[in-house]
Amino acid sequence: MESREQSNRSNPRSSAESLSRPSAIVIGGGFAGIAAARALHDASFQVVLLESRDRIGGRVCTDYSFGFPVDMGASWLHGVCEENPLAPLVGRLGLPLYRTGGDNSVLYDHDLESYALFDADGNQVPQKLVTEVGKTFGTILKETDKVREENSEDMSILKAFSIVLERRPDLRQQGTAHNVLQWYLCRMEGWFAADADSISLKYWDEEELLSGGHGLMVRGYYPVINTLAKGLDIRLNSRVTGISRRHSGVKISVEDGSTFTADAAIVAVPLGVLKSKKISFEPKLPQWKEKAISELGIGTENKIALHFDKVFWPNVEFLGVVASSSYGCSYFLNLHKATSYPVLVYMPAGRLAQDIEKMSDKDAANFAYMQLKKILPDASEPINYLVSHWGTDINSLGSYSYHTVGKSNDLYERLRIPVDNIFFAGEATSMNYPGTVHGAFSTGTIAAEECRMRVLERYGELDLHNLAMDGEMSTSLAVPLLISRM
Ligand SMILES: Cc1cc2nc3c(=O)[nH]c(=O)nc-3n(C[C@H](O)[C@H](O)[C@H](O)COP(=O)(O)OP(=O)(O)OC[C@H]3O[C@@H](n4cnc5c(N)ncnc54)[C@H](O)[C@@H]3O)c2cc1C
Repeated sequence: MESREQSNRSNPRSSAESLSRPSAIVIGGGFAGIAAARALHDASFQVVLLESRDRIGGRVCTDYSFGFPVDMGASWLHGVCEENPLAPLVGRLGLPLYRTGGDNSVLYDHDLESYALFDADGNQVPQKLVTEVGKTFGTILKETDKVREENSEDMSILKAFSIVLERRPDLRQQGTAHNVLQWYLCRMEGWFAADADSISLKYWDEEELLSGGHGLMVRGYYPVINTLAKGLDIRLNSRVTGISRRHSGVKISVEDGSTFTADAAIVAVPLGVLKSKKISFEPKLPQWKEKAISELGIGTENKIALHFDKVFWPNVEFLGVVASSSYGCSYFLNLHKATSYPVLVYMPAGRLAQDIEKMSDKDAANFAYMQLKKILPDASEPINYLVSHWGTDINSLGSYSYHTVGKSNDLYERLRIPVDNIFFAGEATSMNYPGTVHGAFSTGTIAAEECRMRVLERYGELDLHNLAMDGEMSTSLAVPLLISRM
Protein backbone atom coordinates (compact mmCIF):
# COMPACT_ATOMS: atom_id res chain seq x y z
CA MET A 1 0.00 0.00 0.00
CA GLU A 2 2.99 2.31 0.40
CA SER A 3 5.00 4.09 -2.22
CA ARG A 4 7.96 6.14 -1.17
CA GLU A 5 9.33 8.03 -4.10
CA GLN A 6 12.87 8.35 -2.79
CA SER A 7 13.21 4.73 -1.74
CA ASN A 8 11.55 3.62 -4.97
CA ARG A 9 9.63 0.90 -3.19
CA SER A 10 6.93 -0.66 -5.32
CA ASN A 11 3.29 -0.28 -4.49
CA PRO A 12 1.97 -3.61 -3.25
CA ARG A 13 -1.47 -2.69 -4.60
CA SER A 14 -0.12 -3.47 -8.07
CA SER A 15 0.63 -7.09 -7.21
CA ALA A 16 -1.91 -9.77 -8.10
CA GLU A 17 -2.16 -10.86 -4.47
CA SER A 18 -3.07 -7.48 -3.09
CA LEU A 19 -5.46 -6.69 -5.90
CA SER A 20 -7.56 -9.60 -4.77
CA ARG A 21 -7.77 -8.27 -1.22
CA PRO A 22 -9.68 -5.17 -0.23
CA SER A 23 -7.58 -2.49 1.42
CA ALA A 24 -8.03 0.52 3.67
CA ILE A 25 -5.92 3.18 5.32
CA VAL A 26 -6.86 4.39 8.75
CA ILE A 27 -5.63 7.84 9.76
CA GLY A 28 -5.18 8.39 13.49
CA GLY A 29 -4.29 5.84 16.16
CA GLY A 30 -6.62 6.83 18.98
CA PHE A 31 -9.42 4.55 20.16
CA ALA A 32 -11.52 5.25 17.07
CA GLY A 33 -8.75 4.57 14.57
CA ILE A 34 -7.43 1.50 16.35
CA ALA A 35 -10.96 0.07 16.67
CA ALA A 36 -11.54 0.67 12.95
CA ALA A 37 -8.21 -0.89 11.94
CA ARG A 38 -8.85 -3.85 14.24
CA ALA A 39 -12.26 -4.54 12.72
CA LEU A 40 -11.01 -4.28 9.13
CA HIS A 41 -7.93 -6.36 9.86
CA ASP A 42 -10.13 -9.03 11.42
CA ALA A 43 -12.29 -8.94 8.28
CA SER A 44 -9.14 -9.79 6.26
CA PHE A 45 -8.65 -6.33 4.80
CA GLN A 46 -5.16 -5.06 4.13
CA VAL A 47 -4.96 -2.22 6.61
CA VAL A 48 -2.28 0.34 7.32
CA LEU A 49 -2.79 2.80 10.18
CA LEU A 50 -0.98 6.13 9.94
CA GLU A 51 -0.36 7.90 13.24
CA SER A 52 1.35 11.28 13.54
CA ARG A 53 2.70 10.80 17.07
CA ASP A 54 5.40 8.40 18.21
CA ARG A 55 2.78 6.50 20.20
CA ILE A 56 -0.74 5.21 19.79
CA GLY A 57 -3.66 6.16 22.04
CA GLY A 58 -4.25 9.81 21.10
CA ARG A 59 -6.25 11.41 23.89
CA VAL A 60 -5.76 8.22 25.87
CA CYS A 61 -2.27 8.65 27.23
CA THR A 62 -1.06 6.62 30.19
CA ASP A 63 2.23 8.03 31.46
CA TYR A 64 4.57 5.74 33.38
CA SER A 65 7.35 8.20 34.18
CA PHE A 66 6.41 8.39 37.89
CA GLY A 67 7.04 4.64 38.05
CA PHE A 68 3.32 3.81 37.92
CA PRO A 69 0.48 4.58 35.51
CA VAL A 70 -1.09 8.05 35.41
CA ASP A 71 -3.66 8.82 32.72
CA MET A 72 -3.04 12.30 31.32
CA GLY A 73 -6.00 12.05 28.94
CA ALA A 74 -9.08 9.94 29.58
CA SER A 75 -9.16 8.02 32.84
CA TRP A 76 -12.81 7.06 33.48
CA LEU A 77 -14.97 4.43 31.88
CA HIS A 78 -18.21 6.38 31.77
CA GLY A 79 -20.91 3.76 32.23
CA VAL A 80 -19.79 0.63 34.07
CA CYS A 81 -22.33 -1.68 32.49
CA GLU A 82 -22.61 -4.43 29.92
CA GLU A 83 -24.02 -2.02 27.35
CA ASN A 84 -20.77 -0.09 27.35
CA PRO A 85 -19.12 -1.04 24.05
CA LEU A 86 -15.76 -1.30 25.83
CA ALA A 87 -17.01 -3.43 28.74
CA PRO A 88 -16.30 -6.83 27.14
CA LEU A 89 -12.67 -5.92 26.47
CA VAL A 90 -12.07 -4.23 29.84
CA GLY A 91 -13.75 -7.16 31.60
CA ARG A 92 -11.79 -9.79 29.69
CA LEU A 93 -8.51 -8.08 30.58
CA GLY A 94 -9.46 -8.22 34.26
CA LEU A 95 -8.67 -4.54 34.73
CA PRO A 96 -9.84 -3.08 38.05
CA LEU A 97 -12.07 -0.01 38.10
CA TYR A 98 -12.68 2.36 40.99
CA ARG A 99 -16.19 3.82 41.08
CA THR A 100 -16.24 7.56 41.82
CA GLY A 101 -19.84 8.20 40.86
CA GLY A 102 -23.09 6.33 40.43
CA ASP A 103 -26.04 7.04 38.14
CA ASN A 104 -27.49 10.55 38.27
CA SER A 105 -24.64 12.06 40.29
CA VAL A 106 -25.01 15.82 40.05
CA LEU A 107 -21.27 16.14 39.44
CA TYR A 108 -21.43 13.64 36.56
CA ASP A 109 -18.37 11.58 37.40
CA HIS A 110 -18.50 11.95 41.20
CA ASP A 111 -20.90 11.35 44.02
CA LEU A 112 -20.67 13.69 46.95
CA GLU A 113 -19.71 10.64 48.97
CA SER A 114 -16.08 11.37 49.64
CA TYR A 115 -14.84 14.88 49.08
CA ALA A 116 -13.53 17.98 50.81
CA LEU A 117 -14.26 21.51 49.58
CA PHE A 118 -12.40 24.51 50.99
CA ASP A 119 -12.70 28.25 50.68
CA ALA A 120 -9.71 30.34 49.63
CA ASP A 121 -8.73 30.86 53.29
CA GLY A 122 -8.35 27.14 53.80
CA ASN A 123 -11.56 26.66 55.80
CA GLN A 124 -13.40 23.47 54.95
CA VAL A 125 -16.92 24.10 53.68
CA PRO A 126 -19.41 22.15 55.81
CA GLN A 127 -20.58 19.01 53.97
CA LYS A 128 -24.20 19.92 54.72
CA LEU A 129 -23.83 23.21 52.84
CA VAL A 130 -22.21 21.50 49.84
CA THR A 131 -25.07 18.97 49.69
CA GLU A 132 -27.71 21.69 49.97
CA VAL A 133 -26.14 23.85 47.29
CA GLY A 134 -25.85 20.71 45.14
CA LYS A 135 -29.61 20.32 45.36
CA THR A 136 -30.08 23.99 44.46
CA PHE A 137 -27.76 23.52 41.48
CA GLY A 138 -29.94 20.59 40.37
CA THR A 139 -33.09 22.71 40.75
CA ILE A 140 -31.57 25.55 38.71
CA LEU A 141 -30.68 23.09 35.95
CA LYS A 142 -34.27 21.77 35.96
CA GLU A 143 -35.60 25.33 35.78
CA THR A 144 -33.44 26.00 32.73
CA ASP A 145 -35.61 23.38 30.99
CA LYS A 146 -38.52 25.81 31.20
CA VAL A 147 -36.37 28.59 29.76
CA ARG A 148 -35.48 26.24 26.91
CA GLU A 149 -39.13 25.41 26.24
CA GLU A 150 -40.11 29.10 26.19
CA ASN A 151 -37.40 30.21 23.80
CA SER A 152 -37.07 29.04 20.23
CA GLU A 153 -33.69 30.74 19.98
CA ASP A 154 -30.78 28.97 21.63
CA MET A 155 -28.76 30.65 24.39
CA SER A 156 -25.87 29.69 26.66
CA ILE A 157 -26.28 27.70 29.86
CA LEU A 158 -24.91 30.73 31.71
CA LYS A 159 -27.58 33.03 30.28
CA ALA A 160 -30.29 30.51 31.20
CA PHE A 161 -28.88 30.33 34.74
CA SER A 162 -29.12 34.09 35.10
CA ILE A 163 -32.71 34.11 33.80
CA VAL A 164 -33.64 31.42 36.35
CA LEU A 165 -31.98 33.31 39.20
CA GLU A 166 -33.74 36.50 38.11
CA ARG A 167 -37.10 34.74 38.34
CA ARG A 168 -36.39 32.68 41.42
CA PRO A 169 -34.65 34.86 44.02
CA ASP A 170 -35.03 31.95 46.48
CA LEU A 171 -32.42 30.03 44.46
CA ARG A 172 -29.84 32.82 44.64
CA GLN A 173 -26.90 32.10 46.92
CA GLN A 174 -24.77 34.42 49.01
CA GLY A 175 -21.24 34.26 50.39
CA THR A 176 -19.77 30.76 50.67
CA ALA A 177 -22.95 29.18 49.27
CA HIS A 178 -22.56 31.34 46.14
CA ASN A 179 -18.96 30.15 45.81
CA VAL A 180 -20.01 26.53 46.19
CA LEU A 181 -22.58 27.06 43.42
CA GLN A 182 -19.77 28.41 41.22
CA TRP A 183 -17.80 25.27 42.02
CA TYR A 184 -20.68 23.12 40.72
CA LEU A 185 -20.72 25.21 37.58
CA CYS A 186 -16.95 24.73 37.29
CA ARG A 187 -17.41 20.95 37.39
CA MET A 188 -20.11 21.16 34.73
CA GLU A 189 -17.67 23.17 32.62
CA GLY A 190 -15.12 20.41 33.17
CA TRP A 191 -17.55 17.85 31.79
CA PHE A 192 -17.88 19.87 28.57
CA ALA A 193 -14.32 21.25 28.64
CA ALA A 194 -15.91 24.63 27.93
CA ASP A 195 -17.17 27.72 29.74
CA ALA A 196 -20.84 27.97 30.62
CA ASP A 197 -21.21 31.05 28.39
CA SER A 198 -20.49 28.95 25.30
CA ILE A 199 -22.39 25.72 26.07
CA SER A 200 -25.71 25.38 24.23
CA LEU A 201 -28.82 25.37 26.40
CA LYS A 202 -30.74 23.54 23.69
CA TYR A 203 -28.41 20.59 23.29
CA TRP A 204 -26.21 20.37 26.39
CA ASP A 205 -27.99 17.23 27.63
CA GLU A 206 -28.28 15.35 24.33
CA GLU A 207 -25.56 12.90 25.24
CA GLU A 208 -26.68 9.45 26.37
CA LEU A 209 -25.31 8.54 29.80
CA LEU A 210 -24.82 4.82 30.21
CA SER A 211 -25.83 3.26 33.52
CA GLY A 212 -23.49 1.84 36.16
CA GLY A 213 -21.73 5.05 37.11
CA HIS A 214 -18.18 6.12 36.43
CA GLY A 215 -15.18 3.87 36.97
CA LEU A 216 -11.59 5.11 37.08
CA MET A 217 -9.22 2.80 35.21
CA VAL A 218 -6.93 2.00 38.14
CA ARG A 219 -4.13 0.68 35.92
CA GLY A 220 -4.68 3.26 33.20
CA TYR A 221 -6.21 2.95 29.74
CA TYR A 222 -3.10 1.74 27.89
CA PRO A 223 -3.60 -1.99 28.50
CA VAL A 224 -6.93 -1.68 26.67
CA ILE A 225 -5.68 0.10 23.57
CA ASN A 226 -2.49 -1.97 23.44
CA THR A 227 -4.56 -5.14 23.35
CA LEU A 228 -6.78 -3.74 20.65
CA ALA A 229 -3.73 -2.74 18.58
CA LYS A 230 -1.96 -6.11 18.71
CA GLY A 231 -0.81 -7.35 15.32
CA LEU A 232 -1.94 -4.27 13.37
CA ASP A 233 0.30 -2.57 10.79
CA ILE A 234 0.77 0.79 12.52
CA ARG A 235 3.14 3.42 11.12
CA LEU A 236 4.07 5.87 13.86
CA ASN A 237 5.51 9.34 13.14
CA SER A 238 3.39 9.44 9.97
CA ARG A 239 1.58 12.77 9.86
CA VAL A 240 -0.97 12.79 7.06
CA THR A 241 -1.07 16.04 5.09
CA GLY A 242 -3.28 15.18 2.12
CA ILE A 243 -6.14 12.90 1.20
CA SER A 244 -7.25 12.57 -2.40
CA ARG A 245 -10.10 10.39 -3.49
CA ARG A 246 -11.01 8.94 -6.86
CA HIS A 247 -13.62 6.39 -7.77
CA SER A 248 -10.84 3.83 -7.99
CA GLY A 249 -9.51 4.47 -4.49
CA VAL A 250 -7.74 6.89 -2.19
CA LYS A 251 -4.22 8.30 -2.10
CA ILE A 252 -2.87 9.51 1.22
CA SER A 253 0.17 11.80 1.48
CA VAL A 254 2.37 11.85 4.55
CA GLU A 255 4.55 14.75 5.70
CA ASP A 256 7.78 12.82 4.97
CA GLY A 257 6.87 12.52 1.28
CA SER A 258 5.59 8.96 1.31
CA THR A 259 2.21 8.09 -0.17
CA PHE A 260 -0.21 5.26 0.42
CA THR A 261 -3.03 4.00 -1.75
CA ALA A 262 -6.02 1.84 -0.89
CA ASP A 263 -9.65 1.24 -1.75
CA ALA A 264 -10.88 3.49 1.05
CA ALA A 265 -9.75 5.54 4.03
CA ILE A 266 -11.07 6.09 7.53
CA VAL A 267 -10.26 9.52 8.91
CA ALA A 268 -10.06 9.23 12.71
CA VAL A 269 -8.14 12.40 13.58
CA PRO A 270 -9.51 14.80 16.22
CA LEU A 271 -12.05 17.50 15.37
CA GLY A 272 -9.44 20.14 16.27
CA VAL A 273 -7.11 18.78 13.59
CA LEU A 274 -9.88 18.84 10.98
CA LYS A 275 -10.73 22.41 11.98
CA SER A 276 -7.10 23.49 11.55
CA LYS A 277 -7.17 22.36 7.88
CA LYS A 278 -3.71 20.87 8.27
CA ILE A 279 -4.96 17.97 6.18
CA SER A 280 -5.97 18.94 2.65
CA PHE A 281 -8.74 17.07 0.88
CA GLU A 282 -8.79 16.74 -2.89
CA PRO A 283 -11.40 17.25 -4.15
CA LYS A 284 -12.47 19.52 -1.29
CA LEU A 285 -14.91 18.17 1.25
CA PRO A 286 -18.52 19.14 0.50
CA GLN A 287 -19.75 22.36 2.02
CA TRP A 288 -22.12 20.63 4.52
CA LYS A 289 -19.18 18.68 5.90
CA GLU A 290 -16.90 21.72 6.18
CA LYS A 291 -19.68 23.63 7.92
CA ALA A 292 -20.17 20.85 10.46
CA ILE A 293 -16.42 20.77 11.15
CA SER A 294 -16.35 24.50 11.72
CA GLU A 295 -19.56 24.70 13.81
CA LEU A 296 -19.12 21.87 16.28
CA GLY A 297 -17.28 23.13 19.36
CA ILE A 298 -14.05 21.73 20.74
CA GLY A 299 -13.16 22.51 24.33
CA THR A 300 -10.04 22.28 26.44
CA GLU A 301 -9.48 20.34 29.61
CA ASN A 302 -6.03 19.56 30.94
CA LYS A 303 -4.40 17.59 33.70
CA ILE A 304 -1.52 18.59 35.92
CA ALA A 305 -0.41 15.57 37.92
CA LEU A 306 1.53 16.39 41.08
CA HIS A 307 3.56 13.53 42.55
CA PHE A 308 4.41 13.87 46.26
CA ASP A 309 6.73 11.84 48.44
CA LYS A 310 3.95 11.27 50.95
CA VAL A 311 0.26 11.84 51.40
CA PHE A 312 -0.57 14.94 53.47
CA TRP A 313 -4.13 15.50 52.30
CA PRO A 314 -7.42 14.09 53.63
CA ASN A 315 -8.43 10.59 52.54
CA VAL A 316 -11.15 11.76 50.14
CA GLU A 317 -11.77 11.18 46.43
CA PHE A 318 -11.42 14.80 45.48
CA LEU A 319 -10.46 18.17 46.89
CA GLY A 320 -11.96 21.42 45.72
CA VAL A 321 -11.41 25.14 46.17
CA VAL A 322 -14.52 27.29 45.89
CA ALA A 323 -14.39 30.88 44.62
CA SER A 324 -16.67 33.72 43.57
CA SER A 325 -16.47 32.70 39.89
CA SER A 326 -16.19 29.29 38.27
CA TYR A 327 -12.91 30.46 36.69
CA GLY A 328 -11.37 30.78 40.16
CA CYS A 329 -12.51 27.35 41.40
CA SER A 330 -10.22 24.31 41.53
CA TYR A 331 -10.63 20.59 41.47
CA PHE A 332 -8.05 17.93 42.41
CA LEU A 333 -8.61 14.24 41.84
CA ASN A 334 -6.97 12.22 44.62
CA LEU A 335 -5.38 9.27 42.84
CA HIS A 336 -4.20 7.89 46.17
CA LYS A 337 -7.74 6.91 47.07
CA ALA A 338 -8.16 4.80 43.95
CA THR A 339 -4.62 3.64 43.20
CA SER A 340 -2.64 4.12 46.45
CA TYR A 341 -0.07 6.33 44.66
CA PRO A 342 0.58 9.75 46.27
CA VAL A 343 -0.66 11.85 43.35
CA LEU A 344 -3.15 14.70 43.03
CA VAL A 345 -4.40 15.61 39.57
CA TYR A 346 -5.45 19.22 39.05
CA MET A 347 -7.95 19.50 36.20
CA PRO A 348 -8.70 22.96 34.77
CA ALA A 349 -11.15 23.38 31.87
CA GLY A 350 -12.29 26.04 29.40
CA ARG A 351 -10.61 29.46 29.44
CA LEU A 352 -8.66 28.65 32.59
CA ALA A 353 -7.15 25.59 30.90
CA GLN A 354 -6.29 27.69 27.84
CA ASP A 355 -4.66 30.36 29.99
CA ILE A 356 -2.61 27.79 31.90
CA GLU A 357 -1.48 26.24 28.59
CA LYS A 358 0.27 29.53 27.81
CA MET A 359 2.55 28.97 30.83
CA SER A 360 5.71 26.87 30.93
CA ASP A 361 5.20 23.41 32.44
CA LYS A 362 7.07 24.52 35.55
CA ASP A 363 4.81 27.55 36.01
CA ALA A 364 1.70 25.46 35.30
CA ALA A 365 2.71 22.92 37.94
CA ASN A 366 3.46 25.74 40.34
CA PHE A 367 0.05 27.30 39.63
CA ALA A 368 -1.64 24.02 40.54
CA TYR A 369 0.52 23.71 43.64
CA MET A 370 -0.43 27.25 44.72
CA GLN A 371 -4.13 26.30 44.49
CA LEU A 372 -3.35 23.42 46.81
CA LYS A 373 -1.38 25.65 49.20
CA LYS A 374 -4.46 27.85 49.55
CA ILE A 375 -6.34 25.02 51.18
CA LEU A 376 -3.49 23.02 52.74
CA PRO A 377 -0.86 25.59 53.79
CA ASP A 378 1.51 22.84 54.97
CA ALA A 379 1.45 21.07 51.62
CA SER A 380 4.92 19.75 50.74
CA GLU A 381 6.36 20.49 47.31
CA PRO A 382 5.77 17.93 44.58
CA ILE A 383 8.78 15.74 43.76
CA ASN A 384 7.66 15.50 40.15
CA TYR A 385 4.91 16.67 37.85
CA LEU A 386 3.28 16.07 34.49
CA VAL A 387 1.42 18.68 32.43
CA SER A 388 -0.87 18.00 29.47
CA HIS A 389 -1.37 20.42 26.55
CA TRP A 390 -4.41 19.04 24.75
CA GLY A 391 -5.51 22.47 23.50
CA THR A 392 -2.28 23.39 21.71
CA ASP A 393 -0.80 19.98 20.89
CA ILE A 394 -0.78 19.87 17.07
CA ASN A 395 -2.04 16.27 17.25
CA SER A 396 -5.22 17.10 19.15
CA LEU A 397 -5.91 20.89 19.13
CA GLY A 398 -8.59 20.46 21.75
CA SER A 399 -9.78 17.98 24.35
CA TYR A 400 -13.27 16.96 23.27
CA SER A 401 -16.28 18.22 21.35
CA TYR A 402 -19.43 19.94 22.60
CA HIS A 403 -22.46 21.83 21.28
CA THR A 404 -21.83 25.56 21.08
CA VAL A 405 -24.70 28.07 21.18
CA GLY A 406 -27.01 28.52 18.19
CA LYS A 407 -25.83 25.70 15.96
CA SER A 408 -27.87 22.84 14.55
CA ASN A 409 -28.35 19.54 16.31
CA ASP A 410 -27.13 17.28 13.53
CA LEU A 411 -23.45 18.26 13.55
CA TYR A 412 -22.22 14.97 15.03
CA GLU A 413 -24.17 13.05 12.39
CA ARG A 414 -22.88 15.27 9.60
CA LEU A 415 -19.33 14.78 10.82
CA ARG A 416 -19.85 11.02 10.67
CA ILE A 417 -21.40 10.72 7.21
CA PRO A 418 -18.89 9.37 4.68
CA VAL A 419 -17.84 11.28 1.59
CA ASP A 420 -17.41 8.78 -1.26
CA ASN A 421 -14.82 6.29 -0.06
CA ILE A 422 -13.65 8.44 2.86
CA PHE A 423 -15.21 7.42 6.19
CA PHE A 424 -15.07 9.41 9.41
CA ALA A 425 -14.64 8.21 12.98
CA GLY A 426 -13.72 9.71 16.34
CA GLU A 427 -15.48 11.04 19.41
CA ALA A 428 -16.82 14.04 17.47
CA THR A 429 -18.71 11.70 15.13
CA SER A 430 -20.54 9.93 17.96
CA MET A 431 -24.15 11.01 18.26
CA ASN A 432 -24.82 9.10 21.48
CA TYR A 433 -21.52 9.19 23.36
CA PRO A 434 -19.52 12.20 22.19
CA GLY A 435 -16.39 13.18 24.09
CA THR A 436 -15.78 9.70 25.47
CA VAL A 437 -13.48 6.76 24.89
CA HIS A 438 -16.31 4.27 24.42
CA GLY A 439 -17.95 6.72 21.98
CA ALA A 440 -14.74 6.95 19.96
CA PHE A 441 -14.39 3.16 20.02
CA SER A 442 -17.96 2.66 18.71
CA THR A 443 -17.51 5.12 15.88
CA GLY A 444 -14.39 3.22 14.79
CA THR A 445 -16.25 -0.07 14.58
CA ILE A 446 -19.22 1.56 12.81
CA ALA A 447 -16.98 3.32 10.26
CA ALA A 448 -15.11 0.05 9.64
CA GLU A 449 -18.33 -1.79 8.95
CA GLU A 450 -19.56 0.92 6.57
CA CYS A 451 -16.19 0.93 4.85
CA ARG A 452 -16.20 -2.86 4.58
CA MET A 453 -19.65 -2.91 2.98
CA ARG A 454 -18.76 -0.17 0.56
CA VAL A 455 -15.51 -1.77 -0.56
CA LEU A 456 -17.09 -5.21 -0.85
CA GLU A 457 -19.74 -3.72 -3.12
CA ARG A 458 -16.94 -2.59 -5.40
CA TYR A 459 -15.31 -5.98 -5.35
CA GLY A 460 -18.70 -7.25 -6.44
CA GLU A 461 -18.40 -10.78 -7.61
CA LEU A 462 -15.70 -11.76 -5.08
CA ASP A 463 -17.04 -13.81 -2.22
CA LEU A 464 -15.56 -11.53 0.38
CA HIS A 465 -18.51 -11.81 2.71
CA ASN A 466 -16.98 -15.03 3.89
CA LEU A 467 -13.69 -13.47 4.90
CA ALA A 468 -13.00 -14.84 8.33
CA MET A 469 -13.30 -12.65 11.39
CA ASP A 470 -10.38 -13.20 13.72
CA GLY A 471 -11.88 -14.97 16.73
CA GLU A 472 -8.96 -14.05 18.99
CA MET A 473 -9.96 -10.40 19.29
CA SER A 474 -13.69 -10.99 19.37
CA THR A 475 -15.16 -8.77 22.07
CA SER A 476 -18.44 -10.64 22.39
CA LEU A 477 -17.36 -12.60 25.46
CA ALA A 478 -19.03 -11.14 28.55
CA VAL A 479 -16.89 -10.97 31.68
CA PRO A 480 -18.09 -9.00 34.72
CA LEU A 481 -16.29 -5.69 35.35
CA LEU A 482 -14.17 -5.44 38.50
CA ILE A 483 -15.53 -2.30 40.15
CA SER A 484 -14.84 -1.24 43.72
CA ARG A 485 -14.96 1.73 46.06
CA MET A 486 -12.95 2.00 49.26
C1 LIG B 1 -7.95 15.61 29.66
C2 LIG B 1 -8.98 14.67 29.08
C3 LIG B 1 -9.73 13.87 29.91
C4 LIG B 1 -10.66 12.99 29.38
N1 LIG B 1 -11.34 12.17 30.23
C5 LIG B 1 -12.12 11.20 29.71
C6 LIG B 1 -12.61 10.17 30.56
O1 LIG B 1 -12.30 10.13 31.74
N2 LIG B 1 -13.41 9.22 29.99
C7 LIG B 1 -13.74 9.23 28.67
O2 LIG B 1 -14.49 8.34 28.23
N3 LIG B 1 -13.25 10.19 27.84
C8 LIG B 1 -12.43 11.14 28.32
N4 LIG B 1 -11.85 12.05 27.49
C9 LIG B 1 -12.20 12.03 26.06
C10 LIG B 1 -11.50 10.88 25.33
O3 LIG B 1 -10.14 10.89 25.65
C11 LIG B 1 -11.69 11.06 23.83
O4 LIG B 1 -13.06 11.23 23.53
C12 LIG B 1 -11.19 9.87 23.02
O5 LIG B 1 -9.99 9.35 23.53
C13 LIG B 1 -11.01 10.32 21.58
O6 LIG B 1 -10.56 9.25 20.78
P1 LIG B 1 -10.42 9.48 19.21
O7 LIG B 1 -9.90 8.22 18.64
O8 LIG B 1 -11.65 10.07 18.66
O9 LIG B 1 -9.32 10.64 19.06
P2 LIG B 1 -7.76 10.66 19.54
O10 LIG B 1 -7.59 9.77 20.71
O11 LIG B 1 -7.39 12.06 19.67
O12 LIG B 1 -7.04 9.98 18.30
C14 LIG B 1 -6.76 10.68 17.13
C15 LIG B 1 -5.36 10.31 16.67
O13 LIG B 1 -5.07 10.99 15.44
C16 LIG B 1 -3.71 11.35 15.45
N5 LIG B 1 -3.50 12.41 14.46
C17 LIG B 1 -3.75 13.73 14.58
N6 LIG B 1 -3.43 14.36 13.43
C18 LIG B 1 -2.97 13.41 12.57
C19 LIG B 1 -2.48 13.44 11.24
N7 LIG B 1 -2.41 14.58 10.55
N8 LIG B 1 -2.05 12.28 10.69
C20 LIG B 1 -2.10 11.10 11.37
N9 LIG B 1 -2.57 11.02 12.64
C21 LIG B 1 -3.01 12.16 13.22
C22 LIG B 1 -3.48 11.79 16.88
O14 LIG B 1 -2.12 11.79 17.22
C23 LIG B 1 -4.28 10.75 17.65
O15 LIG B 1 -3.50 9.62 18.00
C24 LIG B 1 -10.88 12.93 27.98
C25 LIG B 1 -10.11 13.72 27.13
C26 LIG B 1 -9.16 14.57 27.66
C27 LIG B 1 -8.31 15.39 26.73
